[in-house]
Amino acid sequence: MNSQALVSDPLLRLAMQVSLTHREGDRLFEEGRFSTAKALYLQEARKIVGPTYVIPATPGQGEGGVKSDLYINLHPFKFANLVGCCVGMAKCLRHDNDIEMALAWCEEINSLYRCGYHTAPHPLYDWKDFIMDIPPLTLNRSSGLCLASEILMSLGNSGTAVTRRWTATTGTVNLPETHQTPELKSVLNIDLMRRQFELRHPDPQATPNRAVTVPALQLRGSWKRLQIRTPGGVTEGRQNFSSCMWNSQIYIAGGRQTSLGPWYRDLWVLDLAKLDAWRKLPDYPIPHERSGMFLGWNMLVHRDTIILFTGRPTVDTFDLRSETWGSFQTTYSSTTADVQAGVIDSWPYPGRILADATMQILNNKLYVFGGHHRTTTMGSNLFMELDLGTRKWRRLSGTVRVTEHGDYSCPGPRKSASSWVSEDKTRIYMVFGSFDREAAKPGEFHGSDEAYGYGDFWSWDVKKEMWRQERMSGNPPCARTEVACAYNEKLRKTIIFGGYHPSLSTLVLTPGQEVMFPYSFFADTFIYDHGTPPATTRSEPTLSAPKWKQVLTPGFPTYRCQAHLLCDPITGRTYMFGGWTNSQFVPTKSKLISRSFGDLWELRMDMDGGHFEEIDIEEEVRVAKAGPWQRCFACASAGPWKKCGGSCKGRVFFCGAACLREGWKEHKQLHQCRKA
Ligand SMILES: [Zn+2]
Ligand SMILES: [Zn+2]
Repeated sequence: MNSQALVSDPLLRLAMQVSLTHREGDRLFEEGRFSTAKALYLQEARKIVGPTYVIPATPGQGEGGVKSDLYINLHPFKFANLVGCCVGMAKCLRHDNDIEMALAWCEEINSLYRCGYHTAPHPLYDWKDFIMDIPPLTLNRSSGLCLASEILMSLGNSGTAVTRRWTATTGTVNLPETHQTPELKSVLNIDLMRRQFELRHPDPQATPNRAVTVPALQLRGSWKRLQIRTPGGVTEGRQNFSSCMWNSQIYIAGGRQTSLGPWYRDLWVLDLAKLDAWRKLPDYPIPHERSGMFLGWNMLVHRDTIILFTGRPTVDTFDLRSETWGSFQTTYSSTTADVQAGVIDSWPYPGRILADATMQILNNKLYVFGGHHRTTTMGSNLFMELDLGTRKWRRLSGTVRVTEHGDYSCPGPRKSASSWVSEDKTRIYMVFGSFDREAAKPGEFHGSDEAYGYGDFWSWDVKKEMWRQERMSGNPPCARTEVACAYNEKLRKTIIFGGYHPSLSTLVLTPGQEVMFPYSFFADTFIYDHGTPPATTRSEPTLSAPKWKQVLTPGFPTYRCQAHLLCDPITGRTYMFGGWTNSQFVPTKSKLISRSFGDLWELRMDMDGGHFEEIDIEEEVRVAKAGPWQRCFACASAGPWKKCGGSCKGRVFFCGAACLREGWKEHKQLHQCRKA
């Protein structure tokens, strides 16, 4: 790379030292002159970006999102200096206790870094780190990531906190000696990162009644398991299934119980008002030989009909009123550009199969992004549109299989991403997913021994037919895939729960034994608050800008991926069903490697229409489940504790005899429990 030659030249190195004016701010900050330091950082940043440029940028605005032509064309020295100013601003704002703005400046560094990718000789995929050989830039970027990590940890967002520090570490580990300064080592703090790998997200030992300290970035919530009167149907547990919500009823179809089966092709419905029993509907009628396994498909409700696209030109339907299956034919003719994008035999999905794509219906059109098919199991970034009126397909962006070089104009190839439609029906948002690099077939580009978990966020402008990479503003969830995600129309919020990171380590320390899992399962909850963007004259994002917030819940369902969230547009209620976890990651009595869930939960949130008033939060803090563990009623620690053996029938748990003695009197009064 050119920059390597640049910095080895002593004269240029001197020029760079002089141009790193943020260091004067760093000196002031260390002397405790915070407001002078802040003014200097801002002034130096302004010199680089100009007086009218909005920094940090307002999320969700403009054409570019993360992309900024100004950043792309910055001289590397100015680039390094600007990153230093951003870190400085974040440090000062954190000192002022303006946590939201501090994180906004940290996120600006992520955008800057992303813009740096545009100077690479060929477009790079996200799994490639783009490095400019400028040691002070490496230090500044790592400082920004680790500062964000500290702030996020203080908010209780341990998943994103660990991921930020881990990104700083993995992004610098292979850099030349000149980057590996004592200062960098101190910033990265490997010992701290190792300790943080012991956390689960949320961590069961974290305080169950964590207070909301920054209301702009956090809110209170509650997960409550719902009991269905008559078990059976889908309650034995499912992964890779399909679901949808219609008329205050949840529909669940297909999937499998474990990776060894059984495999399902059935359809069930549950009335949420009654919660009486899962009722069986007619099975999916297309034989396995024609459609492949009923795994990783999307069911979308459109005009009282379920639309089920499985990769075949025939689209299956289920009429929700008459409860009957049907289908319709679609057509597609490939353009020259489509053929260049890898379309063969006049059909975009090889083998006429498609799984783990993400789909939305908007303005009578079906949109399909990514997934895998016959010629790739890693994931694709093909983006297709089916006009449900004319029944004609059109390719919008992406390629059938991963290409050698990336494409910055659209999201990278993936499967199991999540998506939703904006309230004003002008954009389709898409977030997360994974690219299974270890599943490369011979001859496929970008094979590796590690899957890549995306942490990016995009939106598709339906009118302009353009992608925009969005900022992860606020207090966001970390990179992950197979998350439960739904847009709650009534609350006007997107909700995210759980998921899986294919390469973020979790360290489990049990006496005499240390197990490092090279992956993580999550059980944390977030919302994306679309808000109203502030007026463009504002130079800083405000509380109303679109952003992520973490939902702090005293208890939570077990860590899992492939769960589904379903929102009832009539009541505004949010439900979660199913998914699976690895039973080594989450120890269970079962001898099977994986464990599927068939449980149904409701999420309540402390906001207008969030049904939070139905919750006794004080009680919940004492009795809630912490993932697979129970909290002790007396001391709140989480573990495999014993149920109360009294007449309450196990409403509370105690960790041992001491806590039983200590908590018994209060439990007796509170729950009218008697010794059995
Ligand atoms: Zn206890
Ligand atoms: Zn009891």
